[in-house]
Amino acid sequence: MIKVAINGYGTIGKRVADAVAAQPDMEVIGVSKTSVSAEAYIAKERGFPLYIADLSKKPAFEKAGIEVAGDVETMLLAADIIVDATPGGVGEKNRPIYERLGKKAIFQGGEDHEVAGFSFNAHANYREAEGHQFARIVSCNSTGLVRLIHAMDQAFGVDRVRAVMVRRGADPDDIKRGPIDAIVLNPVSIPSHHGPDVQTVLPHINIVTLAMIVPTTFMHMHSIQMDLKRETTRDEVLKVFEDHSRIGIVRKATGIKSNAQLREYTQDLGRPRTDLWENGVFEESVSVLAGKEFYCFQAIHQEADVVPENIDCIRALMGTAKDPEESIRMTNKALGLVAIG
Ligand code: NAD
Repeated sequence: MIKVAINGYGTIGKRVADAVAAQPDMEVIGVSKTSVSAEAYIAKERGFPLYIADLSKKPAFEKAGIEVAGDVETMLLAADIIVDATPGGVGEKNRPIYERLGKKAIFQGGEDHEVAGFSFNAHANYREAEGHQFARIVSCNSTGLVRLIHAMDQAFGVDRVRAVMVRRGADPDDIKRGPIDAIVLNPVSIPSHHGPDVQTVLPHINIVTLAMIVPTTFMHMHSIQMDLKRETTRDEVLKVFEDHSRIGIVRKATGIKSNAQLREYTQDLGRPRTDLWENGVFEESVSVLAGKEFYCFQAIHQEADVVPENIDCIRALMGTAKDPEESIRMTNKALGLVAIG
């Protein structure tokens, strides 16, 4: 069993912890929190040993009825690998600690590529993880883009990509962020950081991205255009997506036309926390014009799509599954991830 520590038990960390616990070849040896919160109660409920950075806060946890297993360094020492899911920028500060302890670690998309020196996506570059101590899972938007672009590139060759990201303003529990009533260009300048982030995994792809933030919490929506190298048809493209285990298709017959309806759908499907782990490509939007011009809309659930990637990255860094397809199959089976559509 691979011993996994989750440093930072928040939106991403709590999902990764549940996903690790579901795998047949890994176990959660601990999760960390900085202060007493609802998530600390969930860690207790799940039976995950809880570690804290500052032991002077131990009495506050105990007063709330939450047992503290020790300090974060004790947790890190007991782990084979650490998933760092602390807020963006904190991972960079944690890296020297992981270096000192000689531990493998996975950072999230809030860190710069340079913090790990290697950015990961299971379908695109699993085998390149071998020999690395650190890896970084590209952000939620970039994960969604990389899955789609890589699949299209393998099938037809991608000449160039132009994409607009309509981003959720905040996660559902995040009461401090906005906007409440605005469309914020993020940034006003072009390109947004997403294109260069995609290139950390797919360096040969010509891509320019634009982004804006809107008042929603459920998902991001991407409007994507690609010029392909080989002529194709809409049916051939749909077949590529149908065959991809982490690209789902939002069928026309469902009547779903929005992030809100898609979230209701994942909720009704009984997905844990309503998570859409796969891309949600809208069937009706999939278009091929003049043989080589491809268009689509896809929904990306910001809290969920990076979760299976973290699991595959654990196996890729540990070297316990050499074949990406083997790891992806194991991860999906343990999560119950059968792509929609
Ligand atoms: P979050 O704020 O929900 O959770 C972070 C957790 O880390 C909290 O539990 C907090 O208690 C803990 N923490 C805070 N400071 C810490 C410290 N110094 N040491 C240890 N733990 C600390 O954040 P999140 O949304 O889960 O984001 C985590 C990472 O994942 C970021 O890099 C973010 O950019 C990335 N990410 C977030 C999303 C998303 O939509 N939320 C999507 C993809 C990637």
